[in-house]
Amino acid sequence: MWKIDKGDILKWLKSLKKDFEVIAPVKVHGEVLFMPLSDDTEITLDYTNTLESPKEFFLPKTEEMFNFRRKGEDFEITSKIDDKKRVLFGIRPCDVNALTLLDEVFGGKYRDPYYFSIRRNTTIVAMTCVQPDINCFCDSMGTGPSLSRDFDLLFTELDETYLVEVGTNKGEEILKLKKDLFKEADETRRDEKKRKIEAAKKKIKRRIDPFEISKKLKYVDDEIWRKLGERCMSCGGCSHVCPTCHCFDIRDIFVDEAGKRRRYWDSCMLPGFTRMAGGVNPRGTKESRIKQRYNCKFNYFFERYGRFGCVGCGRCTDVCQGNIDMVEFLKEMNHH
Ligand code: SF4
Ligand code: SF4
Repeated sequence: MWKIDKGDILKWLKSLKKDFEVIAPVKVHGEVLFMPLSDDTEITLDYTNTLESPKEFFLPKTEEMFNFRRKGEDFEITSKIDDKKRVLFGIRPCDVNALTLLDEVFGGKYRDPYYFSIRRNTTIVAMTCVQPDINCFCDSMGTGPSLSRDFDLLFTELDETYLVEVGTNKGEEILKLKKDLFKEADETRRDEKKRKIEAAKKKIKRRIDPFEISKKLKYVDDEIWRKLGERCMSCGGCSHVCPTCHCFDIRDIFVDEAGKRRRYWDSCMLPGFTRMAGGVNPRGTKESRIKQRYNCKFNYFFERYGRFGCVGCGRCTDVCQGNIDMVEFLKEMNHH
């Protein structure tokens, strides 16, 4: 167990830039976003959570999968696998849990080499949440505010210092690169950490019972979905910021004898998502799309992976153009 002074964190991250691309929370126009550190970016440690989740660093918004070129009757294919070494600093427990959900989605029988190459080459430096946001409900989903696994290093802000716990060899390696900045922490720091987590839990005001919700969601009246759908603008913002939404579309860009295959983020909240050739759209209404999204999070994910597809980060409520508050809706629906 180690500790580091707040002022030394930036020094450490800057020193890592020699060997890694370092991604950290940065303040941009009043919002906090994960961004690769450059010489003139300043990280911020004073934030609740980032506006967007860090999923784009594992599943880029647009990604070139491979190039192809016609060779006689056949095609020559060159894959574009990203194997850059990265450190992701400051990722919250909810988002770490979202990543392990994405591991399930991109793993299994058809393992996605693009996703797993990035995942393997990225060192996860997580940050315990001592300052939850107003829309957070991670405590109900079992995904925060603390984290006990799936990190390489875990930082926790204490009164005068940051506690640093090592989860894997990968974490140990990046700590060792600038060992003089880290001092050994004594056991009393563990109690201090516990107190911080208890205090954070008390700050989380939003609570749901996801098991109850998942049972009830199956029987919600069409009328309730219709009313909720009326407020949706079909902007796709909720799935854009969601750390677990992962649907994508694939397109080939083919000019003359060569081309590229790219994939792009897509969203079940966009009208064209299920539109088929010929114009038929099985989810052509807003209520059918929102019903799908909520059931995906609380039922379909669970049926498939034994875990809920929502980690309670609250981002979809933060950004919704129609002022749809997921927790409020789920609570109302549960009492209906
Ligand atoms: S963010 Fe709100 S308005 Fe936009 S698609 Fe999602 S539910 Fe609809
Ligand atoms: S559904 Fe909303 S609260 Fe749940 S993980 Fe996605 S953005 Fe966060």
